[in-house]
Amino acid sequence: MLKTKDKLNSSGIDIDITCTLCRISVEDDRHLFFSCAYSQFIWRNLLAHLGYSRGMLLDWDREISWRPAQFTGDSFKTCLKKLAFNAFFYHIWAERNRRVFNSKSLASELVLRMIITDVRMKLSAQVIKTPDTDRSRQLFHKWGIQATFTLECPIFCTWKKPHEGTVMINTDGSLSDTSAGYGAIIKDSNGDAIAVAAGSTTPISITVHELQGIEAGLTLALRHNLNQMCVGTDSKVVVSIFERNDNNVPQRAISIWGRIKRLSQRFASLQVFHIYRETNRAADFLAKLQPQAECIEFVPSSFAQDVKDIVFEDKRGKVYIRV
Ligand SMILES: [Zn+2]
Repeated sequence: MLKTKDKLNSSGIDIDITCTLCRISVEDDRHLFFSCAYSQFIWRNLLAHLGYSRGMLLDWDREISWRPAQFTGDSFKTCLKKLAFNAFFYHIWAERNRRVFNSKSLASELVLRMIITDVRMKLSAQVIKTPDTDRSRQLFHKWGIQATFTLECPIFCTWKKPHEGTVMINTDGSLSDTSAGYGAIIKDSNGDAIAVAAGSTTPISITVHELQGIEAGLTLALRHNLNQMCVGTDSKVVVSIFERNDNNVPQRAISIWGRIKRLSQRFASLQVFHIYRETNRAADFLAKLQPQAECIEFVPSSFAQDVKDIVFEDKRGKVYIRV
């Protein structure tokens, strides 16, 4: 536990509790690492360096839950993020102590440079091979890290038709700083749309919104008396929740997971599997619609032309190239 000034003060030590970095607010954990203008400047710049486009900071609870969600997987980028976030906490605390104990201070721009250099040094001894994409080239360039770029074979994929007598529900969730949504589309073995729904909701986490897409899809299927189905989601986290059943369900997703389990029992057969994002375009489109009402069912014939085009292309077996 960090001995911030508020804690020292509440344990009986009589000190000035003003934040050492900005000299405006009370110095506690939340302030020091999240709401202090000094730390926010560094955090915002680190986010941009890591390739995130959001310049806005979230409130404490959402920021805290946002971070671990970004740390999944064992890719080089995940490693880079972890190192950057750890270095952020280390250097903010070091700067605070430098000011308290040595009466010296560094500008936030300088501390930002120190964090970036720190991360670069930690990674400099590694041989890094990474797919040759614009994004990864930009990322490595920004951090000044050497890498060997490899060309990956593209994957060709198509929207998967269900077997005869079974329907396919494609679902998706969307999340931005200020809004969130989900969508579901049910298609038969010909690739024709049977039912469609889209909803908007309070932003929580992408996993929750992906699950809301599944809940909407299952509810829709029940309403249309459909009994045998496959569910395709591009969220590996959601697939792993289904595979592991009750283990490893994120705290915020527990209640919706309970509702989905109860819904699932009402079908004769239900399979959930992972599909590539490229083949989930219709659900992706619906998740981003975010209509005014909480959840709306659309009549397939009244779709926007964009959705009709996607459904038509998928039905004809359009090949998507995934690199
Ligand atoms: Zn401050």
